[in-house]
Amino acid sequence: MRKLTVVVVATLLILALTAIPTAQIQPYDLLLRNGRIVDGTGSPWYRGDIAIRGDTIARIAPTITEPAARVIDLGGQVIAPGFIDIHTHARRGIFDVPTADNYIRQGVTTVMEGPDGSSPVPLAPFLARLDALPKSINIGSFIGQGSIRSAVIGDVDRKPTAKELDKMRTLVEQGMKDGAFGLSTGLFYVPGTFTPTAEVIELAKVAARYGGMHESHMRDEASSVVESVKETIAIGEQGGLPTHVSHHKIIGVGNWGRSVDTLRLIDEARVRGVDVTIDQYPYTASSTGIQAALFPAWAQEGGREQVLKRLKDPSLRAKIKTESVRLIRNERGGGDPKNVVIARCEWDTSLAGKSLADVARLRGMDPTIENAAEAALWLVEQGGCQGIFHAISEEDLERILRHPATMIARTARFRCSGRRTRTLAATEPSPVCWQCTCARRRQSHSKKQCARCPAFRPSVSACWTVDYCDRA
Ligand SMILES: [Zn+2]
Repeated sequence: MRKLTVVVVATLLILALTAIPTAQIQPYDLLLRNGRIVDGTGSPWYRGDIAIRGDTIARIAPTITEPAARVIDLGGQVIAPGFIDIHTHARRGIFDVPTADNYIRQGVTTVMEGPDGSSPVPLAPFLARLDALPKSINIGSFIGQGSIRSAVIGDVDRKPTAKELDKMRTLVEQGMKDGAFGLSTGLFYVPGTFTPTAEVIELAKVAARYGGMHESHMRDEASSVVESVKETIAIGEQGGLPTHVSHHKIIGVGNWGRSVDTLRLIDEARVRGVDVTIDQYPYTASSTGIQAALFPAWAQEGGREQVLKRLKDPSLRAKIKTESVRLIRNERGGGDPKNVVIARCEWDTSLAGKSLADVARLRGMDPTIENAAEAALWLVEQGGCQGIFHAISEEDLERILRHPATMIARTARFRCSGRRTRTLAATEPSPVCWQCTCARRRQSHSKKQCARCPAFRPSVSACWTVDYCDRA
């Protein structure tokens, strides 16, 4: 953990500790004594005390002897400015859990939303809602290239017309004017994967005009990871803006060790004057949808209905399965069905924690890679699941972690300490909610959740239950 602490501290992005003249009225509200102070300027830590009045640091000195309402002896623990997490999915939970406990308790005081090419479009209404929300954390957002492309031409594999490209430029410009910190891309995902690099660069140039940066979930983090890093650098270099490799990792046993090459490319670019940075989560597993990870991009074009149609066509199904087998064997699957673990299936919560090998067995099949691919196809047909993929080496992880341009990000969301479901009282006004019977229990779901299940029949007449976050 010591190594991790040092890296986190070395990559602090904000400076909140500012020495303030010492002549002050007493007493202080809080005195933090005997800390190791890391002030965020990049200078080495030093021992000292910090006195706080209200929400302001009133004094920093080797020893502060004046009284304070509350004194905490830190016993040499680190005091640092709040951390920034540059890659989060905060918008899914901030309105539920505005206290952002799981971030604040780890010292993260600023989070960035809109990663992976996905953000609200337009951004302004979302930012206005955030502004109006009393919350414990600062939130900024990127404007998502994938969301913009989807809004303008749909999730299809084709180039935009000149007019459509112009419309995308305008939406990026609007996002930047609304307050975006830059352009995010998710070239791995649909529809980002259908975007040629030149098109991204055109949009990056717009973000650059407004001082924005580019943040990428790269096109490939497995066999083409080196090419993807080159592409991310090119977007920054030709777009004229800082560029960022998100959650940098090397997926797939056959690709392990390639962080040597990716980091060399990044070092060379930085020497050329390209502002390339990296973030990383310190785990040897990644998490995304089973479909996104184990289906080829062509099979995902056009949305869920199209995916289901292809799975019903025997020859297309066979083609998808062949690709799935390859992806389990050489890429996200980590070469073994046991390495793919289900995090969550909205249509059957009992599958959480089971591996693809378990699902194959549950369906009466031996846990071979072929049968695991079949199980993956079945999971997607049923409604899709979020997966955890154990396919990263500790050695690459540590190499990336040691790089001076690496910061920590978690790709996480706000969690409520206890999510509960309660039955609505007869007297309570029933919210407009959707019901579907794909889940084991009949429950109210969001329209989007319902739309994922094959037995979806829209019904908004009554609610049995509502989900809520119990923060107590
Ligand atoms: Zn991502």
